[in-house]
Amino acid sequence: MAYRVLIAQFMHETNTFSKLPTTLEDYRKRWLIEGEAMVPRFTGTRNEVGGYIDSVKKYGWQPVWAGAANATPSGKLTKECWETIRDMIVGAAKKAGKLDAICLSLHGAAVTETEDDAEGALLEALRGIVGTDIPVVATLDLHANATLKMAKHANALVSYRTYPHIDGYERAAQVAALVQEALEGRKKPRCLLVQPAMLEGADHGRTTQPGLMRDLLARADAFEKEPGINVVSVQAGFTWADIPYTGPSVAVSYEPEAEARAKAVAAAMLDEIWKRRNESSSDYRPISDAIAAAKAGVGKDGPLVVADGTDNPGGGGYNDTTPVLQALIDAKVENVAVGTIFDPGTVQQAIKAGVGATIDIVLGGHTDPSMGGPVKAKALVRMLSDGSFKNDGPMNAGVETSMGPTAVLRIGGIDVVTISNRIQTIDLQVFLSQGIDPRTKSVVVVKSVQHFRAAYAPIAREIVLVDSGGICSPDITRLKFTKLRRPIWPLDGVNDPYAGVRA
Ligand SMILES: [Zn+2]
Repeated sequence: MAYRVLIAQFMHETNTFSKLPTTLEDYRKRWLIEGEAMVPRFTGTRNEVGGYIDSVKKYGWQPVWAGAANATPSGKLTKECWETIRDMIVGAAKKAGKLDAICLSLHGAAVTETEDDAEGALLEALRGIVGTDIPVVATLDLHANATLKMAKHANALVSYRTYPHIDGYERAAQVAALVQEALEGRKKPRCLLVQPAMLEGADHGRTTQPGLMRDLLARADAFEKEPGINVVSVQAGFTWADIPYTGPSVAVSYEPEAEARAKAVAAAMLDEIWKRRNESSSDYRPISDAIAAAKAGVGKDGPLVVADGTDNPGGGGYNDTTPVLQALIDAKVENVAVGTIFDPGTVQQAIKAGVGATIDIVLGGHTDPSMGGPVKAKALVRMLSDGSFKNDGPMNAGVETSMGPTAVLRIGGIDVVTISNRIQTIDLQVFLSQGIDPRTKSVVVVKSVQHFRAAYAPIAREIVLVDSGGICSPDITRLKFTKLRRPIWPLDGVNDPYAGVRA
């Protein structure tokens, strides 16, 4: 008899400081797919669901496809949104009859109007149906704010080991291999989690250069070779969440006989995160530095890539702040491509006017004008489209994405990809699908803090990460935490990583 394995995805990185609630409509814009319709959508892709689809074939499982839900990071999920997605997955588990295992693709930093720990609540609900005897294993984003509840109800939590995240497929394959061993009775995995009294750490998980996160992962790799240690996952955490569980953590999946060793492994990892808490590779600079680099690079090969990291929609940024665009206009920089500005109203205005028309625009800056108001300018409508494309990768290779109705607007020497669905600029197709070749531009602006590097670093002449005053500011003193566990580093005078650790 083939093993019956339920597979589901629920992804969201919730920025609780965002004023924009996350609704079912936001999920539909990315994907909200019920049941086995998730299979054709992700077959051949390099994300976690693609990994599970291939694993089902590899191990000959009888799959129960519960559904897949993913939305661009934004504010708390509405009650209706959360309950609909939860009920889709939990309902599938109830209907499935006897199950032998559950494999999930979770983010680990979802917050709803009613749940500070949505993934913990989902895992608990699933456990309530299937009991404690079958393996329930989940992949997590490297930026999960993982919780003791998640660890209690999972047999393993397996986080990405790359940032940019290009190993979703591999992590799902790792989950599936562990589940298969458990199904065959060769393993009995359990999971433990430790979380230091730290709001941020592990260099926010950056793996593009040698340093702390790569060192941590090398240690995790070595620990995983020990007998009885199945998985050692490092979650860097997602800072912009006012919940008790925000911050880095370490999850260890282990065999019952290795429990003491697993605790020692987790403690060793946590100690290193704590000792090296001041190490950061982030290099935010003022917009004026980007303008100076743009002017200095005129005529040189390859674009200057300006990363507008504090308005990164991948961290809940509004995707519509304008200070970088305004500065480029003011400085009369030419041969620029900006991707993207979220402004569905201006897109509709452009659609009405048609390609070739010149229109007076009031672009972007609408969500929170205190972060820089709209750009007022004359713009030529260069191209209109439905904004859909298939990612080239390496991140999300093969996955279909939609920016919604999209207009390319030219302001002076600047092409602005103006969109109707918020989306982080990860893939070159954000521009290529709009008739713009970023490799031929002098300056390319991306709304991203780190993920853009996978596709854009290879074409960039230079990269400048700017702080434009967006919601994802690295200055955490701007954030007002009310639910966070305290005391916590670096907000409070903490000398002990175990201070205030929740039991
Ligand atoms: Zn992440």
